[in-house]
Amino acid sequence: MADIVADLESVVGAAQVLRDAGDTEPFLADWRGRYRGTALCVVRPASTAEVAAVVRLCAEHRVPLVPQGGNTGVVGGAIPDASGRSVVLSLSRMNQIRALDRHDGAITVDAGCTLAQVQRAAEDADRLFPMSLGSEGSCQIGGNIATNAGGTAVLRYGTMRELVLGLEVVLPDGTVWDGLRTLRKDNTGYALKHLFIGAEGTLGIITGAALKLFARPKASATALLALPELDAALEVFARLRETFGERVTTAEILSESQLAGVLAHVPGTVRPLHTAAPWYLLVEVTDTLADSNLSEALEGALEEAMTTGLITDATVARSGAQAAALWKLRHSVSEANRKSGVVIGHDTAVPISKIPDFVTRATAEVEALRPDARIVAVGHIGDGNIHLVVILPEALRTAGEPLEPIARAINDAVHRQAVALGGTISAEHGIGQSLRAPLAAFKGPAEMELMRGIKRLFDPLGILNPGKVL
Ligand SMILES: Cc1cc2nc3c(=O)[nH]c(=O)nc-3n(C[C@H](O)[C@H](O)[C@H](O)COP(=O)(O)OP(=O)(O)OC[C@H]3O[C@@H](n4cnc5c(N)ncnc54)[C@H](O)[C@@H]3O)c2cc1C
Repeated sequence: MADIVADLESVVGAAQVLRDAGDTEPFLADWRGRYRGTALCVVRPASTAEVAAVVRLCAEHRVPLVPQGGNTGVVGGAIPDASGRSVVLSLSRMNQIRALDRHDGAITVDAGCTLAQVQRAAEDADRLFPMSLGSEGSCQIGGNIATNAGGTAVLRYGTMRELVLGLEVVLPDGTVWDGLRTLRKDNTGYALKHLFIGAEGTLGIITGAALKLFARPKASATALLALPELDAALEVFARLRETFGERVTTAEILSESQLAGVLAHVPGTVRPLHTAAPWYLLVEVTDTLADSNLSEALEGALEEAMTTGLITDATVARSGAQAAALWKLRHSVSEANRKSGVVIGHDTAVPISKIPDFVTRATAEVEALRPDARIVAVGHIGDGNIHLVVILPEALRTAGEPLEPIARAINDAVHRQAVALGGTISAEHGIGQSLRAPLAAFKGPAEMELMRGIKRLFDPLGILNPGKVL
């Protein structure tokens, strides 16, 4: 093992091979403190050639390699196991914008660029890179691609899969695959890039990406609506889509229990409407034409929804600051939930029409299991992706009660209901370590065997992010 460390140092320089506990600590645990591992070292290469050399060394020495981006993932995918044998490969030093071409409508970047950095580079060229996540200041493009990230703009622009034009990937034997094309059409056999998108670092290390750019919206209108029931949210959403088409960029649902949690735990948040309602919908419509009268049109649509009782109240932001205050409520949910107790989150998606059924059934199951649970719901209604978050009293942790079996029973119940309604157990966060066991049941033997076959083909030595996904 000492041999490989010396070899790694000769590739990236001794200063970029971290071994001291103080230096490696941030790379060995996730931000929620749920996953912790140990590693031989953390390596920080600065170029694709250095990544390739590191991978070749690891293959030679049969040393497991764990790619890590911003370490903002929620399923433990970027955290090594407890063996202490793995090398964590951090992409953070690969953070250059390589090219931006207005005619191609594409930006080409190193995988270690943060999402915010790519958004800014696009904005500087009066273009939009539309992916938007609460973690955008820290998460990296490579991590976004490896997890096929979603976020709040999927409705209009799609998940990361739809935003990637081409990839540069270091394969598990150290070969560099240059698929960094900016083509919109390319029917030359198997679409290999799609195998790496969402593979969570198990098939290759993404070192560069060509991404789609869009026209920047010049007008927007943001509103928060109060709803008497979830069915009404579906109807309002359908009507807004009929009226505004693809201009509906965001439709985020929050339960009153979720909003109350945010107001209780996040400083600087205020209740946006006079009275509480069971559900709220945060809606944003945008247009690339500066003079499109979106606020007026949105108000008209909401007045109509109000007269038919679909919504009971609404506020339309009058300024950027008011819109930001509404968005703060949505972006603060993770912080609020973390401060509320023991959080057991879910990333399920169901067909949009089944959302009310799913929430009713899953809530009933969890309440039967744990009468002490507080259940909050937040999610992207336009994608059917509802995060049902179960919050248990903090006292459970202090009492030293084992949380793992409780979490498993709750996860099973929620996943069962999603799958029964034609849904999925992971819509945007991935599988990582946390959903490996339920994945096999969800996929079934034929799909699992195909996935294992693909893994064997790409990574016959099994060195790339072992113990994740499969
Ligand atoms: C406040 C907050 C809000 C969030 N909101 C959302 C949301 O709305 N939607 C959403 O989808 N996610 C969300 N997330 C989760 C997380 O930000 C995303 O999963 C993100 O895409 C992870 O990027 P990362 O760079 O941090 O990856 P990491 O956490 O470092 O890694 C994630 C996975 O990708 C692999 N990986 C990382 N980089 C590479 C690479 N270059 N090549 C190959 N594999 C790689 C890792 O091995 C791991 O399996 C949120 C997280 C936080 C903290």
